[in-house]
Amino acid sequence: MIQDEILILKEISYKENDKILHALSKGKGKIQIISKGSKKSNSRLLNASQIFAYSKCTLNESKDMYILTSAQLLDNFYGLKNNLESYYHACYILELISYLSQENEYDARIFDMTVSVLSHLSKSTRDQNKLAAAYELKLAAMLGYKPDFLHCLYCGSAIKGDGKFSVKEGGIFCGSCVNYGNGINVTYNEIITMDKILKSKFEVLGSIEVPKHIMGLIRKFLFFYIGRDNFTTLKLL
Ligand SMILES: [Zn+2]
Repeated sequence: MIQDEILILKEISYKENDKILHALSKGKGKIQIISKGSKKSNSRLLNASQIFAYSKCTLNESKDMYILTSAQLLDNFYGLKNNLESYYHACYILELISYLSQENEYDARIFDMTVSVLSHLSKSTRDQNKLAAAYELKLAAMLGYKPDFLHCLYCGSAIKGDGKFSVKEGGIFCGSCVNYGNGINVTYNEIITMDKILKSKFEVLGSIEVPKHIMGLIRKFLFFYIGRDNFTTLKLL
């Protein structure tokens, strides 16, 4: 028997009353769970067995799947149902993390950050794009691709003005070194903004002005590192 926190990524109808759940768990990474009887309206597993449900649960390990035996719902990010823009962004976050997670490969920081961004998306009515961009950049950093926005990739000196952001090398070429590498032109202000997004908590993003150009760059950067850019939920956005 295992106690864990889980976030439901996908629910699949199974047999008459059961569901198979794809979940991100805090201590086990991505797992498949069978939730018996959870399609019945009086099931005590009903709330915890739906997409976006975040709960504390008890699992039994069986041959090729886990069995959900009890669950205490911590959040279902209900606000997502009332805001299409937030809902689509949240679907994208689930698709992204589902693609990146595997069983027995887990990172509690990534789990907590995913729950946190969903919570902010469910409450936000205008910062959805910024929240997704911040999630993407922080995720890249947690996966080991943390860009250094404050020093030049080539000469190592402190960035003090406009430069180029190299998606491939994950950093900035300063004004004097722009000819030594390929990148996309960025102003000093945009560089500082990316650094701020990387280091700030989701709750303060509202006060940071983030140009569209920068959100596009961050997405390009993450997608370059994870080797995929064709997420179906992105078409909704
Ligand atoms: Zn330089």
